[in-house]
Amino acid sequence: MMNNYTNTIEEVRSRMDIVEIISEHVTLKRSGKNWLGLCPFHPEKTPSFMVNPEKNIFKCFGCGAGGDAFSFLQRKTNQPFNEILHDLANKYGIKITYSNENTDLKNKIYEINKLATKFFTENLFKPGNVAKDYLNNRGINDDTIFQFNIGYALEGWDNLLKFLSKENNFSTDLIEKAGLIIKRNESDGYYDRFRDRIIIPIHNERGQIIAFGGRSLSDDNQPKYLNSPETIVFHKGKNLYALYQAKESIRSQDYVILMEGYFDAISAHSNGITNVVATLGTALTGDQLRILSKYTDSKRIFISFDADLAGGSATNRGIEVIKNTFGGLGGAKIFDNNLFKDSFYEIRVISIPEAKDPDEFIRSKGAEKFKLLVKNAPLLLDFQIENIIKANDITDTNNKLKAVSQLSELFAEISSPIVRSEYIKIIADRLSIKEEDFQRELLRLKPKSYTKKQTALDTIPQLTTRKEPKDYITLAEKNLLSLYFLNETCWKPVSKRLNGINLSNESLQIIKTSIEELIETNNDVEELTKALLNKLAEQTEAIEFVSDIIFSLEDKYCLKEESSIDLFIKQNLACIERFKSRNIENELKERYYAVKNDEVKSLELQYEVKQIVSTRST
Ligand SMILES: [Zn+2]
Repeated sequence: MMNNYTNTIEEVRSRMDIVEIISEHVTLKRSGKNWLGLCPFHPEKTPSFMVNPEKNIFKCFGCGAGGDAFSFLQRKTNQPFNEILHDLANKYGIKITYSNENTDLKNKIYEINKLATKFFTENLFKPGNVAKDYLNNRGINDDTIFQFNIGYALEGWDNLLKFLSKENNFSTDLIEKAGLIIKRNESDGYYDRFRDRIIIPIHNERGQIIAFGGRSLSDDNQPKYLNSPETIVFHKGKNLYALYQAKESIRSQDYVILMEGYFDAISAHSNGITNVVATLGTALTGDQLRILSKYTDSKRIFISFDADLAGGSATNRGIEVIKNTFGGLGGAKIFDNNLFKDSFYEIRVISIPEAKDPDEFIRSKGAEKFKLLVKNAPLLLDFQIENIIKANDITDTNNKLKAVSQLSELFAEISSPIVRSEYIKIIADRLSIKEEDFQRELLRLKPKSYTKKQTALDTIPQLTTRKEPKDYITLAEKNLLSLYFLNETCWKPVSKRLNGINLSNESLQIIKTSIEELIETNNDVEELTKALLNKLAEQTEAIEFVSDIIFSLEDKYCLKEESSIDLFIKQNLACIERFKSRNIENELKERYYAVKNDEVKSLELQYEVKQIVSTRST
């Protein structure tokens, strides 16, 4: 959470003018207290990109991009935060000061992780180790083991702890900060986080080891995959597995393939497909996409997630992130290679036939067959259109109408008129309807635009279709945090009501904890906003949320009385609960369909459902 140069960030922010900085990239016109221009992150003809010089933030109401001047430059130039800070500090003649405390701690953790990796690898090669057999059976040979530094954590409670503390004199405090040991609950002391597991080290872009993934060897040892916790050097949403091993290949081939699991990536690499990275057991994030785009000039990203139900929805969630990051489908290159240059991303989807994941496919069908899938991978938009048409049996008129309505939602995300008209032709043909009829339907079903006047109660998420429960939870959580920005007199009552409530979105929870801390030392909303932006400066996702929240205040100023604020909190909390249980239901459903042919597993699942239902009713 801490950054190294809070002082420098504060000073640079106090000197810079966000309008001036953004004006170097976007033509801005004054509009009330804001400035307005054409968004540089998605193609548009009428401006929806807004800059607020007072709060030092920007927001695009077309594609959702938002943040402060630092994150604007990060997005626009793809430079890392420190380089941008450096440049700006230079420009304003500010000397950069940093505290060395964090750098020291980081270096110690890298050192511990490196030693632990060595220890794990040595364990793996001890004679008679079943973990080694397991890897070999998965087609992973010694070269690959060394290339990815794969190892094994022994059975027993404290093998690694003893090795690091007794033989190498690291303090338990440091080893815990590296995420490798866990404090005992009932008694003093610590125990190893990873026991009897295959260990897969995770490198950062520079090749330093920042975390570990551990795969259990037996079904008794749950969960199947266990990862390091977030540490000062490891942030799940900001790192990608195998990027260090893949980056040169991504550069030279100018595209990247994104998979879900460690073994998908390892299997691809060991079979000669080396431009492959994997997400780290979480949904794809915008930060990860931005990292990837640094390595491919033409910004070509291929998604190859699991073929099962869960994987299918992972692809859909991934698509949502892609839209948010690149500004709608119109921002992702969707049609013609030559139509848009530079700022467009080409996203393609690789579907895996007759195998549960890329790993299984590559091992059973071979690398050449996989390369063929890559070669024929459809563009994201084509993939989505095909999915909609497949899901509705279009020989039936009612289904055809349903498909048209779903397609029209998809069309709302295409901003380029040329692409739109091309696709209208394609779809009309595909559905055997007249182009004019489809166009008329598109106009009729046109989704409402963002300019609709809202009141605070309108902002409480209501269930409609399409979006994931998670999105509604995030919206309600943003609503709760927005109350801190209305007026400093709200701080006490709001913080009392939100005390002890953990937000499920990681970045929003970080914002909440930061606010709680900062309202102790700041006097009003303006000071709080400044201090918050400085504190979170390096965390682009959190900054984007802060900008979202501030730009959404307009419709909440009507919340004046304590009673109306209280009602607002109650409704949003209730909404979070509602969507959380919906989330659990969806998950259970997915899992049920995945195991429904396995009687034992489906019985276990039914038992789990019972448990949940009984705790809910108490
Ligand atoms: Zn935009």
